[in-house]
Amino acid sequence: MTELLYQTDSYLQEFDANVISVLQEERTVVLDRTAFYPGGGGQPCDVGSLIVAGLRYPVEKVKRQGDDIVHFIGGDKPLPAIDATLHGTLEWARRYQLMRTHTALHVLCGTVFRDYGALVTGGDMEPLKGRMDFEFATMRGELVREIEAAVNKEVAQAREIRVKILPREEAFQIPDLIRTKINLLPEGIAQVRTVEIVGLDLQADGGTHVHNTNEVGTIRVVNYKSKGVINKRIYIEIV
Ligand SMILES: [Zn+2]
Repeated sequence: MTELLYQTDSYLQEFDANVISVLQEERTVVLDRTAFYPGGGGQPCDVGSLIVAGLRYPVEKVKRQGDDIVHFIGGDKPLPAIDATLHGTLEWARRYQLMRTHTALHVLCGTVFRDYGALVTGGDMEPLKGRMDFEFATMRGELVREIEAAVNKEVAQAREIRVKILPREEAFQIPDLIRTKINLLPEGIAQVRTVEIVGLDLQADGGTHVHNTNEVGTIRVVNYKSKGVINKRIYIEIV
């Protein structure tokens, strides 16, 4: 089982950990703790490196597997042994761009719900680019500039972002979370991690976010597409 350091400190760029399992063939290692985000909720996984006894191993991909976070190691050096102590470092520029992008998408989602009552059905992102799907029958081209102005106004409000880990029952008492389909969470999950943009948006979310909307930058609404009568896709970029 891996302790998920990124869940409580999204700004952690480096960490020490021990190897708890190794698969030589697949070139994967599982650590007792990690700051590497394994991907999920539309946010891609982190990349970076592990240093073991002076040797540097590139981390090319990271994946969640049950309670473990699996690090896929590049190159062809023999992998470290179980119990080896190592130092992990994220490729921080990329991760921080993803944090700004992920928070920007929540700003979009909160603003579009508040102003038009449209619910999110999905989303995806890469560094400084993202898209979000809405049930938004009334979306049309003229709204693009209006939405862009509204999201940048929210960013400029310098709203704080608060992350909490709540018992499932407590999370189910929060009306805003019920709206974002918390009911779809698997039965076995005892705790729910929530990400709140204070005064704008509250979601059950496992991703890494900035501490304040003033870190996001300027959001451009670059395109939108009709995916049917109800479903519309909005594309953003961060400058
Ligand atoms: Zn999210």
